[in-house]
Parts: sequence; structure tokens; C-alpha cells
Amino acid sequence: MHLPEQLPELLRGVGMTSQRTRDRMVGRLADQGIRDPRVLEVMAREPRHLFLDEALSHRAYEDTSLPIGHGQTLSQPWMVARMTELVIKEAPCRVLEVGTGSGYQTLVLSRLVSELWSIERINALHRLAGERLRLLGAHNARLRLADGGHGWSEEAPFDVILLTACAGKLPTPLLAQLADNGVLITPLADQRGRQWLTRVRREGDEFDQQRLESVRFVPLLEGVIR
Ligand code: SAH
Repeated sequence: MHLPEQLPELLRGVGMTSQRTRDRMVGRLADQGIRDPRVLEVMAREPRHLFLDEALSHRAYEDTSLPIGHGQTLSQPWMVARMTELVIKEAPCRVLEVGTGSGYQTLVLSRLVSELWSIERINALHRLAGERLRLLGAHNARLRLADGGHGWSEEAPFDVILLTACAGKLPTPLLAQLADNGVLITPLADQRGRQWLTRVRREGDEFDQQRLESVRFVPLLEGVIR
């Protein structure tokens, strides 16, 4: 891991969690079925603990989701790994993420795709994520404070659109911003409120929807909190 020499307050504690802890996390991910060596390599290298409040950073490499404030959560490592695998399988050039949150998923993706856009609706999270990503040199990730349900039309079309919050129905503007043969990967709630990781592939004007595993995410909400 390369960090700038002048570490601001935010990035202190970088030595707190050792490489060994990260290696153990990645070992578990491999046992849980994460196969793509690029994903495992990036997650073994990148400092997940810097995306949490200091009081929680010692738990960063546990197999659990953790609170990041404002009622939101950093997804468990397995979920980040699984979604990253699904994204890079498409060999995408242009990727849009909705739900920057802490910025950890954004960081992992930024190391593996060439161009990345990420939208968050809560200003405090958006700003903190921006600071972390800048300091960690994720310069190919562009962030925006907005309601991601509307997508990022100026930058469309995208090869992959990833949502890290759960919608009740597929947001139409996001489907419209998919490139031909592009995919939308999102948690989607069924009528009983059960969430499923879902992959929607665009073929011309057709959208082929495939249900993957059962998951748990915070809800996709409307509007911006400044
Ligand atoms: N990938 C994030 C997960 C954060 S939880 C991480 O690694 O930390 C989901 C995030 O989606 C929250 O930060 C929430 O504020 C955000 N979110 C929910 N609805 C949204 C919307 N309509 N537009 C943009 N962000 C949204």
C-alpha cells in the first residue's frame, strides 16, 4: 500500500491493522467462493479500516457489515468482493456506482476498472469518501452528491451500473443509461420485502433480469441530504 508521506488526521491508524489480518479476511473470502484473483489481490492490499470511524476500525476485517453513521452501513467484505467480481466479469470501461457510502467499494472498484463514477445522496458521507479516495490516489473515481436514482446522464452510457442500496423496483433512468449489452447489478426487493441480488442485462430495448443470491442492504432513498 502506498500512502502520501504527510498523513492527515483522517488516515492515522494505518498500522493498526496488520497485513496478516487482511490476509486472513481474503483467505475467508476465497473459502466462501470468491474466485477472481484480481479481487482477492486488491482486497488484500487496500486499507478497509480507513473507511470506518476510528472506534470501529479494529473490526474492519471481520466478516460483517459495520455502521458508517447516518443510518448507513459499510457492506461486509464478502458482499463487496462478490459485487466487484460481478462487475469486472463484464470487462467494463465505464462504471457507475450508486451509493458511495464510506467509499470502500468505490476504492476497490477504482483499482480494477478504468473509469468510475459514484453518486451518494448524503453530503457528509460524500465528502468524507471523497477525502479518503483522494488520499489513497483513486483519481479515476469521480464523485457526485445527488439522488443516484436519476443516474449521471452526462456521462452515460455505462457498461455496468452497480447499486449498493436496495430498490423496490428498477429505476428506469438507470436502465436507460446502460450501454447496449451493459448490465445493472442491484439488490432488489420482492413483494414480501426479501432482497435479491439481481443482474439486468440490456440487449437493445430488451432487459433480461436474472435473480442471484439473497442479500441485505439499506434502502435506496430519494432526495439529497445536505
Ligand atoms: N458501498 C457502500 C455501501 C454504503 S450503504 C460502502 O462500501 O460503504 C448504501 C449507500 O447508498 C448509503 O450511503 C446511502 O446513503 C446511499 N444511497 C441510498 N439511496 C441513494 C440514492 N438514491 N442515491 C445515492 N446514494 C444513495
